Amino acid sequence: DKYVYDFAEGNKDLKDLLGGKGANLAEMTNLGLPVPPGFTITTGACQAYLATGREPDGLAGQIEAHLEALERAMGRRLGDPQDPLLVSVRSGARFSMPGMMETVLNVGLNDRSVVGLSDQAGQNDRFAWDSYRRLIQMFGKTVCEVPGEEFEHALDEAKRAKGTHDDLDLDADDLRGLVETYKKIFAKHTGREFPQEPREQLDLAIRAVFESWNAERAILYRRQERIPADLGTAVNVVTMVFGNLGPDSGTGVAFTRDPGSGAQGIYGDYLANAQGEDVVAGIRNTVPLQELERLDKTSYDQLLDIMARLEGHYQDLCDIEFTIERGKLWMLQTRVGKRTAAAAFVIAGQLVDEGLIDLDEALHRVNGAQLAQLMFPRFQLDHEFEAVARGIGASPGAASGAVVFTSARAVELAAEGKSVILVRRETNPDDLNGMIAAQGILTSRGGKTSHAAVVARGMGKTCVSGADEIEVNVPAKRFNVGGRTVSEGDVVSIDGTTGKVYLGEVPVTPSEVVQYFEGSLDPERTDDALVRAVHRIMTHADARRRLAVRTNADTGADAARARRFGAEGIGLCRTEHMFLGDRRELVERLILAATETERTDALAALLPLQRQDFVEIFREMAGLPVTVRLIDPPLHEFLPPLEQLAVNVAVAQERGEDVAKEEALLAAVRRMHEENPMLGLRGVRLGLVIPGLFAMQVRAIAEAAVAVTRDGGTACPEIMVPLVGAVQELETVRAEAEKIIAEVVGDSGVEVLIGTMIEVPRAALTAGQIAEAAQFFSFGTNDLTQMGWGFSRDDVEGAFFWRYLELGIFGISPFESIDRDGVGRLIRIAAEEGRAARPGLKLGVCGEHGGDPDSVHFFHEVGLDYVSCSPFRVPVARLEAGRSAI
Ligand code: PEP
Ligand code: MG
Repeated sequence: DKYVYDFAEGNKDLKDLLGGKGANLAEMTNLGLPVPPGFTITTGACQAYLATGREPDGLAGQIEAHLEALERAMGRRLGDPQDPLLVSVRSGARFSMPGMMETVLNVGLNDRSVVGLSDQAGQNDRFAWDSYRRLIQMFGKTVCEVPGEEFEHALDEAKRAKGTHDDLDLDADDLRGLVETYKKIFAKHTGREFPQEPREQLDLAIRAVFESWNAERAILYRRQERIPADLGTAVNVVTMVFGNLGPDSGTGVAFTRDPGSGAQGIYGDYLANAQGEDVVAGIRNTVPLQELERLDKTSYDQLLDIMARLEGHYQDLCDIEFTIERGKLWMLQTRVGKRTAAAAFVIAGQLVDEGLIDLDEALHRVNGAQLAQLMFPRFQLDHEFEAVARGIGASPGAASGAVVFTSARAVELAAEGKSVILVRRETNPDDLNGMIAAQGILTSRGGKTSHAAVVARGMGKTCVSGADEIEVNVPAKRFNVGGRTVSEGDVVSIDGTTGKVYLGEVPVTPSEVVQYFEGSLDPERTDDALVRAVHRIMTHADARRRLAVRTNADTGADAARARRFGAEGIGLCRTEHMFLGDRRELVERLILAATETERTDALAALLPLQRQDFVEIFREMAGLPVTVRLIDPPLHEFLPPLEQLAVNVAVAQERGEDVAKEEALLAAVRRMHEENPMLGLRGVRLGLVIPGLFAMQVRAIAEAAVAVTRDGGTACPEIMVPLVGAVQELETVRAEAEKIIAEVVGDSGVEVLIGTMIEVPRAALTAGQIAEAAQFFSFGTNDLTQMGWGFSRDDVEGAFFWRYLELGIFGISPFESIDRDGVGRLIRIAAEEGRAARPGLKLGVCGEHGGDPDSVHFFHEVGLDYVSCSPFRVPVARLEAGRSAI
């Protein structure tokens, strides 16, 4: 097997094999850019090492051969006492894992070659000894697990002895002394002398990089970022170049455009007379890259030239690391740079303008998650507000409220109408009620997959997790941050996108992107580059997509907002809400009806109310299809809870009051109590058991459609029967419904479709039969997931999903993103067999997954006609539907 590639042998497409850094170093080498020569050891070698605990056969020989070639090319030998070649050993995985893995610089230095290095550098002893002490420090820490603080402590001591805070004030003698101290620290912790043999240094450093793949923080990072655990890292062995040889040397980082806003220009930092790790460690303050023009115009011009070439070549924003060694520029790294959601849109638009990419490619480079981020309300920050802590933006949004430390208190204050922020070290399943009651959640521990983060995302609630500057003291009902104390009731604001925490109430504004979707910001007139880019890319997504996008809405107001956001119909109008509020009493009458007359009276009272609801929605949707689902939840959800009612009755009896009515209600609640209501009397089952209920709804829908049509409008109702598992259920409902529709519609020209949800696994598996009786299917992926996995949708996220995510049983909640293998298979089967039985059968999805980016791609692949999602997700679904089609 080939385990080692010279930089000249690779290219940017070999990231799986060479890692991101190695592939891009190879690409730059082949572009003729000034890259220090070197070679890359493949991820395959790392995988073999991690699997067996030793270097694979042949690796040592291949390294030897490439090292010799490198030595020949450079005219120096590794660690040669007179004129040493020095190398850096750098990790570089397929996916960037910033700061997670190891790097060792200056490999090849020892007690003798340090002298040779000084000669090379023009008798620069200070530089040579500084390089040597850096090697011992990095090698000790990375390869031999010597505690890093000990070295740092010794360095501080040396500076204190000299009476300075600046590394640069240490002279050659000081650094020679520091090397002696470092060697002692090394020997004390490892039980051996610092290795003097250059090749041994190299081999040990390579092995340490392999092993750093499985360092605890790397494992954690991968889990959070969903990077597969078995990829391994490549190792780059690169000729050292030095940015710390004097004032005509230095090191820097740069972006070809602003990764924050996307604006064109030069963005970067430069540090003269320093090595890369000094920039990262923030040891000295950097200067803006533009300063380099003054310091070294030749290198600056060359750098700008290279940056322009890289952008042209990668056709994207690049970030780079470079070093200048005595006036000679070297490129140490480049990659397509990370950027904010806003910059992603702006840059994609710019690149189209510049003719570098087309609109399809622009669409490909942004995604729904980014668009969703741009739609969250933002804090309106001015100088008054400064973040006091920063954690992980675990669930986006902007929330303000009074601080509370227990779930119970959150519930109490929320009941009084207050906004609260629940603050905990970590949340656990007991906090669920508090999380529901709170405006936002703030924890001092835990990452992106902690309980708080997972549950908050599931609820769409703002959450900042792992803000570790905050010291939470629950018993004392306060937290401390940066010397300040925040007590229960004090107001804080948290930003679930940036992870920042503010004291006081920061005002909130709708984002520009939402103003655009709402129609209050004209994309042709604004000079907001982001809005213009979003508009352009959305327009292209709409032109490209095959999937239609509808919304889940059950009020005229929601329907109106969704239409402004681009919804092309209603895919799910849940009629449940129409039974709440003042109407609860009518529902009670229906449930308690002792005689046929009482029952029909109750239904007759509900009919006009329902009809008016539908009239409003049909008007709002102006001829777009509206799928109305007949009532789904169990009726006892509309009655008071059993315990509370029992207590009330007992208390009233005690007082000698007349409780006949309450007793009847209590008896009904008892009668209807179910151990598993989700699997009980709901959906179509309810319609088959309570005479006249579905009939009333069907009549209301048909009458509303006729009324709207008579007024000169158009209505396209689609009646949807929930929870069907057998075609016979649907046939029974349909026969009755068709009679009513025929009677109501008459010759008004109104057409009403009758279809079904597919949300019970049996329905998916008998879809061929069901399609005979259904004019359309709509996948209810919430219930299909619930019943497919046997996961109670109301309980599991808080109860144990965090553990499943931690164990990697799944990477994301199946309620959030469709489980392609299981639930997805049911959908595939139902789509195929349904269409085989009834060619052209209209297929849609109305579960929460309809607005999830990955799921949208799946629904496109299986050939659905539309997705339906909550109004706010409509733009996300449009964008992802477009992206699925390119
Ligand atoms: C579903 O089950 O996916 C669905 C849309 O219905 P509900 O969420 O109302 O059960
Ligand atoms: Mg359902």
